[in-house]
This record gives sequence, C-alpha cells and structure tokens, in this order.
Amino acid sequence: MIPILDSKRQYAKIGAEVEKAVCEVLRSGSYILGPNVKALETELAEYIGCKYTVALNSGTDALHIALRALDIGKGDEVITTAFTFVATTESIEIVGATPVFCDIDPDTFNIDASKIEDLITPHTKAIMPVHLYGQPADMDKIMDIAKRHNLYVIEDCCQAIGAKYKGQKVGTFGDIGCYSFYPTKNLGGMGDGGLITVNSENLKNRIVALRNHGGAIRYHHDEIGVNSRLDEIQAAILRIKLNYIDEWNKARREHAATYNELFSGCSDIQTPKELADTYCVYHQYTVKIPNRDNIHKMLQEAGIGAMLYYPIPLHMQKVHAHLGYKMGDLPITEKNTECVISLPMFPELTLEEQKTVASTLIECIEKSKALV
Ligand SMILES: *Cc1c(COP(=O)(O)O)cnc(C)c1O
Repeated sequence: MIPILDSKRQYAKIGAEVEKAVCEVLRSGSYILGPNVKALETELAEYIGCKYTVALNSGTDALHIALRALDIGKGDEVITTAFTFVATTESIEIVGATPVFCDIDPDTFNIDASKIEDLITPHTKAIMPVHLYGQPADMDKIMDIAKRHNLYVIEDCCQAIGAKYKGQKVGTFGDIGCYSFYPTKNLGGMGDGGLITVNSENLKNRIVALRNHGGAIRYHHDEIGVNSRLDEIQAAILRIKLNYIDEWNKARREHAATYNELFSGCSDIQTPKELADTYCVYHQYTVKIPNRDNIHKMLQEAGIGAMLYYPIPLHMQKVHAHLGYKMGDLPITEKNTECVISLPMFPELTLEEQKTVASTLIECIEKSKALV
C-alpha cells in the first residue's frame, strides 16, 4: 500500500520537537492568540515576503475574510476558476457575491489569464486566482488586467506555500493572499489553521478586527466579525514545521522530477508542466491519462493511493446550480476533470515507492487499452 500522503512518517521525524513545544503551550496557560501566534505571524511574513500576516482558523476563513475586508459582497462579481477545491468559490458565496467562472489553461490547470477580460462587467470587483497543486498562476498577466480594470486580486495560495513566480513568493502579488494549514497541505498543522498575507496596514487592521468579532479593542465591536482565532498549540507546531518547509518542498520537486523521468517513455501519460521561471511546490503531482476512471479503480485495487482532484468541476456542483452554468461552458476545465489523476506525493516518499507507482500505472494503462 502506497498512500497519497503519509503524515505519520513526517511525525516520526519531528515528533519529539512537536511534543516538547505542545507541552510548553499546555503548561503556559496561554491557549489562543498568544506569543506563538504572534511569532508565527512575524516568521511567516518574513518567509513569504510581505509586510503583515494574520493567522486564522482555516484557509476558508482566510478567503471569505479577505473578501469582507475588501468590502466585496452582494451584487459584486469575482472572477475565478471552477477547477479548484470548493472553498474558493464557497467563500465568494458566503459574502453574498457571485463567482464568475473563467476556463483554465490545459497545461498548468490554473486560470487562463487570456480569457479573464471577456468576463469583466461593471459588477466585477476582483480576480481570485488559485495556485493549484502548488503551481503559480500567471501573475504578470493577472496583475496587468487587474491594474487596467481597477480590480482587486485575492490569491488562493492554500496549496502553494513556498511557491515562487519569477523569484517572488505567491501571496505577495495581489491585495491579499490566503493560506491553509489543513494537515494535508505542504505546511500542515495538526488541526485546522489558515493565514492572510497583506501589505496594506489598513487592510491588516480590518482583518485583525474581523478575525475576532469585528473589534480591534476588546468589547468594542465596530462590525459583524467572526471567531477565526488560531490557537497556540497549532501555532507552536507550525513554527517547528516552518523550519523544514523549504527542505520538504525541495523533496517534493525532486520526486516530481523522478516521476517525470519514470514516465518519459510513456506517451499516454501527460506529466505536469511548469510555467517558465516558476518554482512549483507540488502539493499534488497530477498527470493526465486516458480511461481515467478505470485506471483509478485498478490503481486502488493495486494499493496505490491515487486521488481525483477534483472529480466534479465547480460550475457543475449543486451548490452553484443557481448560477446557471451548463456542461460545455468551460470546455478545458471539463476535459481536465475527466482525465486528471494525482499520484502519491509527500517529502518522505521513497524512490522504490515511486518506481512501484510508475510501473503499476503504466501496467494499468496497458491493461485498460486491452479492455477497450
Ligand atoms: C485546502 C484549500 C482551501 C481551504 O482551506 P481550509 O483550511 O481547509 O479551509 C481553499 N482553497 C484551496 C485551493 C485549498 O486547497
């Protein structure tokens, strides 16, 4: 059995450090928004390369609090992708705004910047690119469009901590960047967590208030906020893991190169492409294959933890049915949804395991060809 991700192997390496830090928090008596959260915010601002970060309860909260902080709500449109996790567009609906789906680039899986301008209306307020699978979106083009049309940009960086576009980390191009520390992410806590990156002090202050019931001063509430505070245990764990993130992302990139090599002789497997001058952090290693659903079953039976991210494009989800999209509206997104499969990918994955994954996948493709 080769899982898509094995968190236990990571814990085996850092467990002693984590347990020590957690015990210190337990003894400290300070459990929420304390010194570890403060330190984590500073360390992550430095790591990502922005002025401020605000630690939150989840990536989903980061996204909808970002929209709230920019006063995006009812009657406003946000251009984004349908090839992502539902939290991206859920956040737009949470604030009462309308997601407008842009098709994707077939090679990078990210929003196709050349199709954004056609979707801009007088109601458009923001563009929300997602750096899917750890691959940066085409930020030069997106920022150029945003500047010319006076739109906000909110980057969904939940899968892409450490990823770089032309040497600059994602989450520092737009007005706000949103990160998740869900346990399966490249920098994952041992519970939920999230983060906003921002350069404007005013926006930062608003986000800090929204995080804690809409008031900067305790028991003074200026607007309706939420409870999206990060706890000290998660912050202490994340601070330890932050010391390893570059090493772990590097290992993921090396595994991706190894997979590419192992698949180089198989024309049925389309390996992931990177944009020029980007540093992809391979949250997922996702290939395109024929007869995907059959092969997915065969891989599962063979003990390979392959996954489908994501099996239904968001414009076809029930939750967004009221938007009135139909099949055929986003042809590249729909086509990708049918043929993508993500293979085991985590820093501790071994070469032997990668070889097994690769040979099993190639075998399954041959078998499925014989079936049809
Ligand atoms: C994980 C994820 C989110 C949501 O993060 P949570 O911390 O689980 O709320 C949002 N967008 C994308 C692209 C994600 O992968």
